[in-house]
Amino acid sequence: MKWSETYIPTLREFPAEAELISHKLLTKAGYIRKLTSGIYNYLPLMQLVLLKITNIVREEMNRSGAQEILMPVLHPAELWQKSGRWEVYGKELMRMKDRHQRDLVLGGTHEEVITDLIKGELRSYRQLPINLYQIQTKFRDEIRPRFGLMRGREFMMKDAYTFDADEESFKVSYQKMVDAYFEIFKRCGLETKMVESDTGAMGGKDAHEFMVIVDTEGGENVIFYCDQCDYAANIDKATSLDLKNQKKDTPKKMEKVHTPNKKTIEEVTQFLGEPPEKLVKTLIYKADGNLVAALIRGDKEINEIKLKNALGCVELEMADFESIKKLTGAEVGFSGPVGLSGVKIIADEQVTELTNAVTGANQDDYHLVNVNPGKDFKMDQVVDIKSAEEGGVCPRCKKGKLVAARGIEVGNTFMLGTKYSKALGATFIDKDRKEKPFIMGSYGVGITRTAQAAVEKFHDEKGIIWPVSISPLHVSIIPVNVQNQTQREVAFEIYEGMRKNKMEVIIDDRDERAGVKFNDSDLIGLPLRITVGERTFKEKKVELSIRGKKERIFCSKEEAVKMSKNILDKLQDDISL
Ligand code: ATP
Ligand code: MG
Repeated sequence: MKWSETYIPTLREFPAEAELISHKLLTKAGYIRKLTSGIYNYLPLMQLVLLKITNIVREEMNRSGAQEILMPVLHPAELWQKSGRWEVYGKELMRMKDRHQRDLVLGGTHEEVITDLIKGELRSYRQLPINLYQIQTKFRDEIRPRFGLMRGREFMMKDAYTFDADEESFKVSYQKMVDAYFEIFKRCGLETKMVESDTGAMGGKDAHEFMVIVDTEGGENVIFYCDQCDYAANIDKATSLDLKNQKKDTPKKMEKVHTPNKKTIEEVTQFLGEPPEKLVKTLIYKADGNLVAALIRGDKEINEIKLKNALGCVELEMADFESIKKLTGAEVGFSGPVGLSGVKIIADEQVTELTNAVTGANQDDYHLVNVNPGKDFKMDQVVDIKSAEEGGVCPRCKKGKLVAARGIEVGNTFMLGTKYSKALGATFIDKDRKEKPFIMGSYGVGITRTAQAAVEKFHDEKGIIWPVSISPLHVSIIPVNVQNQTQREVAFEIYEGMRKNKMEVIIDDRDERAGVKFNDSDLIGLPLRITVGERTFKEKKVELSIRGKKERIFCSKEEAVKMSKNILDKLQDDISL
C-alpha cells in the first residue's frame, strides 16, 4: 500500500470527547470515526485489524469443531416474547416496527433465533453435540454507550451456541470453548483471566468472563482473584470470607436510644461507641416498583447486582426519600427492620450472625440497640448481597487473599441449561426414546472490543503498539525525503521486494516533513519501521526499528526484506509462546 493512496486521516489533536487513551488513539490515528453515540465507521486500517481478529476467531472456532453460519439481524418479536426476554431485556433491546406495525427486534444476541432454527430439525441424540457460530454486527441500546468501541450500540461479535444431550457431554462442549477462547486471545497477543460471573439477562446457571487486565479506567469490570489458588470472579459474583469471629454475646433486651441528627454509619457508631460491624444498615429499594428493605452489616457495601439477582427483579433502584418516609415514618438514616411491615426484608448472611446490633428505629433521631435478628425482626430472605473485599479470604482455598483488579471483558461463556430450549419447545429424542429439551451453552467474543482492548493495553505516549498478529499491516517504510531520488528508489526497491514476498507493507510516499511521517508512523503503531534516510544511506545501510523498542538495527537494502521477515517471525513467536 502507498500511504498517499490510502485513507488514513490522522489528526493533530486528540478528539475532545474521548476519555480512554485507546479511544483517543484509534480516532487520532485515523482508524475510526464516530457517526453518532455508540456507532462508528471503521476506516481502512481498522477494517484490516478487525479482519485479522475475525480470522483468528474463525480459525480457532473451526478447529474446535464449531460450524459457521449467518443468522438474520432482524428478528420477529414473538420469539423474544416466547423466551420472556421481550420484557426482561429491558430498554437495551433495540425494537422497531415494520410497515404493518409488527414489532421487530434488532438482534443483540441470538439464543432465540438459533433455538428456533434447530427446533424440529435437530431431532436425534445422534446429531449431538453440535456447535454453530456466526460473526456479525450486533445492536444494543446501551444505557451509557461510551469509550469508543468498548461499549457501542452497534458492534461486532462472534456468538456461538452449543446443543448437547446431557450434562456430561455439555461439560466437554463448554470446555472446548474455554480452550478455544484462551487460544483466541493469546493469538491476539492478549493474556486473559477467566472469571466466574453473574448470568444477568442471559439467564441459565453459570457463566465465565474472559478479562484483559488493565490498570486504566478502560477496565470497566472489577474482578477479584486469589493470590494462592485459581479462584477468580467478577465483583457481581465474588465472595470473600470474613473469618473475624463475631463474639456471641448473650442477647439483651432491645432499647430505643436518642440519636439526634446521627444518620450516617460514622455518626451513629461514634455517638454510640459501637463498631460499624455491630450496625445493621437498612437500605430501601424499589424492585420492579415494589419497595424492598435490604439489610447489610454497617462495615460492608451492598452489591446491587447480587441483590437484583436474589430478588429476581428486572429494574432495581434506590427508593426516593418520599417513599422511604412514607414506609418507615422517618427520614433516611433512621430506617430499620424492627416493626417494618408491608415490605420484603432481604438480609445479607452476616446480618443473621449479629447479636445486640444497632438499627434505625423508624423514628426521626432514634436508633434501637440490642437488636437481635430473628427474634426482634423477621427476614424473608437471607442471601449473600455484599461486595467482596480486597484482602478478604478466598472462598475456595480459604487460605489465600483476594486481589482486586480491573478488567476489560472481551468474551464470555454461559451455561444456559434448558432455559431457551424449554421456553421455545426445542426437544430431541434421546437414546431412551424420551423427548428432552437440549442443554445449551452460548459463547460471545467482542471483536471490536477486543481490538480496542489491545490498544488500551499496548501503547505509549506516541501511539499504538499493535501485537503483530492483529496489526493492520506489518511494516512501514519511510523514505525520509521523497524528493531525494536515491532514497525514493531504495525505499521502493525494498517495498517491491516485500510485496513480492507477500508481506504486509505500507510505504509513506507522501511529500511531507520527516517529523510528520515519523509521528504518523508511531501513531498508527505497525510493529516494524524501515527508515531510508540521508545519514544511514551514506553508510549504505537502512534502519530497522521495532515499534515500542529503543534499539535500531542497520542492514543493507538487500538484506532488509529477509531481516524484516526474521524480526516479524520472532515477534510472532513471542506471542505464541
Ligand atoms: P457487558 O457486561 O460488558 O455489557 P455482556 O455481558 O452484555 O457485556 P455478552 O452479551 O456476553 O456481553 O456479549 C459477548 C461479548 O460481546 C462481550 O464479552 C463483549 O466482549 C462484547 N460486547 C458486549 N456488549 C458490547 C458493546 N456494547 N460494545 C462492544 N462490545 C460488546
Ligand atoms: Mg451488556
